[in-house]
Amino acid sequence: MIAEIVAVGSELVTGQALDTNSQWLSKALGELGVSVHFHTTIGDDLDENIEAFRIARNRADLVITSGGLGPTQDDLTRESLARLQGVALVENADCLAAISAMFARRNRSMPDRNKVQALIPEGADPLPNSCGTAPGVWMKTPERATFACLPGVPNELRAMFEEQVAPRLKGMGLGGRVIVHRKINLFGRGESDVEALALDLTARGRKPEVGITVSEATISFRIVSEGATEAEARDLMEPTAAIIYERFANLIVGEGTDDVVDALIHQLKRTDSTIAVAESCSGGLIAHSITSIPDVSPYFPGGVVSYSNRAKIDLLGVAPELLASHGAVSPEVAEAMAAGVREKFRSTIGLSITGIAGPKGGTAEKPVGLVYMGLATADGVESRRLDLGAEQPRDIIQRRSAKNAMNWARLRLQGVV
Ligand code: AMP
Ligand code: MG
Repeated sequence: MIAEIVAVGSELVTGQALDTNSQWLSKALGELGVSVHFHTTIGDDLDENIEAFRIARNRADLVITSGGLGPTQDDLTRESLARLQGVALVENADCLAAISAMFARRNRSMPDRNKVQALIPEGADPLPNSCGTAPGVWMKTPERATFACLPGVPNELRAMFEEQVAPRLKGMGLGGRVIVHRKINLFGRGESDVEALALDLTARGRKPEVGITVSEATISFRIVSEGATEAEARDLMEPTAAIIYERFANLIVGEGTDDVVDALIHQLKRTDSTIAVAESCSGGLIAHSITSIPDVSPYFPGGVVSYSNRAKIDLLGVAPELLASHGAVSPEVAEAMAAGVREKFRSTIGLSITGIAGPKGGTAEKPVGLVYMGLATADGVESRRLDLGAEQPRDIIQRRSAKNAMNWARLRLQGVV
């Protein structure tokens, strides 16, 4: 099943507002196994809407439109669809009742204008709106596509998709086949390195299909598998997942939405360890990542954002001579920070970051993107150097440093490094 998304709204094509609905819908459809091949964005113009709907109708099995279902003059989706299909707009009594009930619940009288929202193209089904007034439209065409017209307001669109559209798509059986997805996430190698080790898996036409995506340096294998039943689709997927696990073993941080921090917490729990962090250029990002996950207090006593030399000396016990002779961004200081924070918090692991996040402050010897991480355990303390690139923006250098440091700690807990 091929889908197209048509986002309607003059505010979108003029750059006043960002079309976030298409992105959200594409992800949601992808999770259901429907692949989106086209995104179209158009303004509030009747002829252009009809034309865009016509193109979509003939090249996609499913067309999801967003916006243009409001009560005002520029809301043209209902009319465009009716004209395209050559049918009348008819008032739907249930929709009218639902719209007036919505106004009654809010203690407001219903403006006459809102009646147009109860108009549905003949032969189409209304889609109830659980969080707003505008009902959506579900319409099969004798041509190729089925239309699902959703409101533009993002929370209404999402609710209607989940409550009305997704069940209908599942009911259509997506062509009689069930599609399942699995996303396996890796961290610690570049995308091209990973791909080079997986060319057999990512080859075009392979079944099940494997794709690679990258987000914030976390690389994901997405496996898409099809079968007559969900169990069959999952069984067909299993050997491919097993190959990925075998080949990329220690790079794997988890599945689904799991990232490095989840893997770190998993290892802290497994080994009943605690971690304390001393952060300079990452400004507390590690502490923030860890505490974004609930129930971590047994494993995370705390951290220090030791941004100045003074803080490194006073709060972590870094020797002033080290700072004077090697500078704050040095392996020696990273190690002293890690050892110091471990001691202060009496944790199993002390983890530190010190680096140059830029855009200024770099030198030939110590360029922007140079970061040292320190790791202290009962066995001693070590440091590692990262060169994240002088051309990288500050926030990326900060986030990469934090992720790399957390990854180092989780690998240590796993006994890999
Ligand atoms: P409409 O249903 O066209 O009246 O749109 C209602 C409101 O939803 C607009 O004023 C926008 O703020 C928002 N909206 C419409 N389309 C989108 C879109 N594609 N992405 C995000 N927000 C949107
Ligand atoms: Mg609009």
